[in-house]
Amino acid sequence: MNDLVLSQTNGVPIPDGPPVLGLTNAEARSRLEQYGPNALPQPYAPSLAAVFLRQFLSPLIYILVFAAVVSLALGDAKDALFIGVVLVINGIIGAAQEHSAGRAAAALRNLEEPHASVVRDGAQCRIDARELVPGDLVLLEAGARVPADIQLLLSEDLQCDESLLTGESRPVKKRPSSSGAETGPDVAYAGSMITRGRGRGVVVSTGGATEIGKIAEEIGRRSISKPPLLIRLERFSRMIAIAVCLAILLLVAVGLLRDILYRDLFMLAVGLAVSAIPEGLPVAISVALAIGMRRMARVNVIVRKMPAMESLGSCTMIATDKTGTLTMNELTVTDILLPDGTRLKCEAGQDLDACSIVSPHGDNVQASLRASALLKAASLPNEGRLFKERESWSRHGDPVDVALLAAARKGGIEQEEIATHYPLITRIPYEPDLKYAASFHRRKGRVRIFVKGAPETLIAMASQMDADGRPLPIDGEFLLRQKEDLAGMGLRVLAFAQAEIDTTPDDGYAHHHLVDLTFLGMAGMQDPVRPEVPNAIRDCYRAGIEVAMVTGDDPRTASVIAEQAGFVFNPDQVVTGEAVRRAEQEGEAALDKLTRHARIFARVDPAQKLSIVLSLSRNGHFVAVTGDGVNDAPALKHAHVGVAMGRAGTDIAKESADIVVTDDNFASIVNGILEGRVAYANIRKVVFMLVSTGAAEVVLFLLAMPMGLPMPLLAVQLLWLNLVTNGIQDVALAAEAAEGDELRHPPRRPNEPILDRVMIRRIWHSVLVMGVGGFAVFYWLLQQGYPVEQARNSLLLLFVLFENFQVFNSRSEHLSVFRQRLFANPLLVLGVLGAQALHIGAMYIPGLSDTLQIAPVSLREWGMLLLLAATLLVSMEFEKWRERRKASRQ
Ligand code: ADP
Ligand code: MG
Repeated sequence: MNDLVLSQTNGVPIPDGPPVLGLTNAEARSRLEQYGPNALPQPYAPSLAAVFLRQFLSPLIYILVFAAVVSLALGDAKDALFIGVVLVINGIIGAAQEHSAGRAAAALRNLEEPHASVVRDGAQCRIDARELVPGDLVLLEAGARVPADIQLLLSEDLQCDESLLTGESRPVKKRPSSSGAETGPDVAYAGSMITRGRGRGVVVSTGGATEIGKIAEEIGRRSISKPPLLIRLERFSRMIAIAVCLAILLLVAVGLLRDILYRDLFMLAVGLAVSAIPEGLPVAISVALAIGMRRMARVNVIVRKMPAMESLGSCTMIATDKTGTLTMNELTVTDILLPDGTRLKCEAGQDLDACSIVSPHGDNVQASLRASALLKAASLPNEGRLFKERESWSRHGDPVDVALLAAARKGGIEQEEIATHYPLITRIPYEPDLKYAASFHRRKGRVRIFVKGAPETLIAMASQMDADGRPLPIDGEFLLRQKEDLAGMGLRVLAFAQAEIDTTPDDGYAHHHLVDLTFLGMAGMQDPVRPEVPNAIRDCYRAGIEVAMVTGDDPRTASVIAEQAGFVFNPDQVVTGEAVRRAEQEGEAALDKLTRHARIFARVDPAQKLSIVLSLSRNGHFVAVTGDGVNDAPALKHAHVGVAMGRAGTDIAKESADIVVTDDNFASIVNGILEGRVAYANIRKVVFMLVSTGAAEVVLFLLAMPMGLPMPLLAVQLLWLNLVTNGIQDVALAAEAAEGDELRHPPRRPNEPILDRVMIRRIWHSVLVMGVGGFAVFYWLLQQGYPVEQARNSLLLLFVLFENFQVFNSRSEHLSVFRQRLFANPLLVLGVLGAQALHIGAMYIPGLSDTLQIAPVSLREWGMLLLLAATLLVSMEFEKWRERRKASRQ
């Protein structure tokens, strides 16, 4: 054995004897230095310089470079220099935007660092998985990713999904091999997923030395996919590019007929291409998405998969968990109900030393004895831990388990003490699909079984009940009625049972031994609804989003909690997993009919979540579903938006989800939806700004050239216009704050094109005012006998002003500009003032003004152009006002 193990451990000896204490902290530290962090090599991230250089890999840039070279060849060094400067500035702006977007994404990924449960210095603790070292004693639990290669010492039904390593998706059973001769199933490999059970073992190798480390490069090479919105918009910009190129060809043809100089024509084509093609769009969208991601992170929503950014905003249905998401997941046992109907009260309170369990009918010795037996059955098959650390109580594990331990303490039962009287043989750990947990103990030559779990499940396993110390045949109906009483108060109800059996020779105790149990009674636990949830639910209804609860808990408990949370539903909208199963057997149609109506799904198997979600989406819903367990993974993957819980969630759930809610709170999901809608609206604003101004420039030329007028703007002027007005302004629009009515209207259709009817109408409107208006001004100036240079000077200033006003028009699709706080977006004001200052400044800078062929204007002229440009704002305001009036009439 030793040879093999030693080669696996890189020569680290596994500590002798049962390693119950784990490594000492000092030893762990020195090993960390020796072996390095437990991490795989980071995937390559491009440097800022690489990102900068990448900005030049675009057809448009090639054209510009070509243009610079041609200008140079024609002896026009000034134009060439100008184009060069524009190129570099464009590259810098693009690189800065892309880099910050990438950094935001990387920072968010870091929030999901994996953790590991280890024993160090004899105490169990959670550490950053990067700090694991060979020799560490690690605890494994269903739902987690195995943090390093681990030699198992203990397995409780442990199963791992090793598909990442082997491609085989069926889970592999893992158990310690007593001989240690074989390496196969007794090592849990780093990177595999624990799909079931619990385990304990010693780290044999970490980081690059693990099996996965050896093939890490292959896995690291998986490409990162682009968000579909970005792909759609890239395709969209390409379409516009083609349209612009066609327009340019047309213009060149007209120009040839009109005997315009080749060189002017060429420069015109370049200038128009650069200013009218929204080449900055994809980058601006990336920025908008990155800003959205950062804002979502601020409201505790981490976007794992970029498409979720846009899809979250179009959810029409949230299918949510109950425990932890709608409720606080801070459970307290309030009632204990014995099979004979005696009810005991647990005093609430955090101070576990002073509390007690009391019978409302005075001292009742029999009842206290029965309660003690029940609390024993609550404490032994229990994976929680409750201990005093200095002056305060420390709680570890499932809140249900911890609540039971706290109640047991109040009743004078201490888990650690009784565990010594009942040596543990094995346990069946709690899994949501089982709805119970059991443990097997040695006691006076026989085996004692304790079970805790859902009442229905335990009643089915029991044949008798313990009434007042006497065993009676079980009366299921009576017990269920008692359970309804507790559930009707919104309490989560757990039942307890025990049994005694003969020892079996091979110690192979399992599910089939859970028959003929003696039912010991039930406990009711309170789990308050989170205070912010009712408001969030109201927001959902107002925003056209329906909510459904999908829970493993009792229908009565679920209904009461739903009511407290502010759900609107009738009793006939409450269905159970049983009804779902029956409908499923009848066929898809029956299930869809059920889910069209039902809004509370109780006593649902985790595996049923997927069929419910699929059925809801067949009914036309765009579904966001929450989940935390291993079994939730399929639903999380297949829903339109999978939402994993950051705290209670397992690694498997998180990795299957599109977004992770770090505080497990339903209200955060709603905030995420709000931010999703804001981000999408901002993207529309950027698109509108870039497309409408580009289209106006093209139309200006399409009107002027065929009429035989000179070129209204020179190529360098178009480049300049593009440079001063876009760069900052579109990023400013991408950073716009919420308008405030995002949650007052129904979700948009998920496949709605960005260029919808409203947008197209607005673009026409802008083209009419800017393109046609600009043309008219140019025409009139020439008619008045102004030299063409002067007419261009005015027209260029007019266009800078137009685009400044257009930024304000873009701020909201429906709201008046005057109802929005101007300084809510300082970048925007800065962008507008900056553009003006730059342009006016350029008029006075000798070298620049020559190149651009611009000259200072009088204040009067500037004022008149400002007034002219303001028509764009006024007419757009009028249109918005008319639309608002029409909408409010309907
Ligand atoms: P929820 O949807 O509220 O999270 P769960 O799936 O966690 O519901 O729980 C389903 C049922 O399983 C509960 O009603 C309870 O009866 C039982 N149960 C929950 N937690 C435990 C536990 N730690 N031990 C035993 N049984 C449990
Ligand atoms: Mg739960």
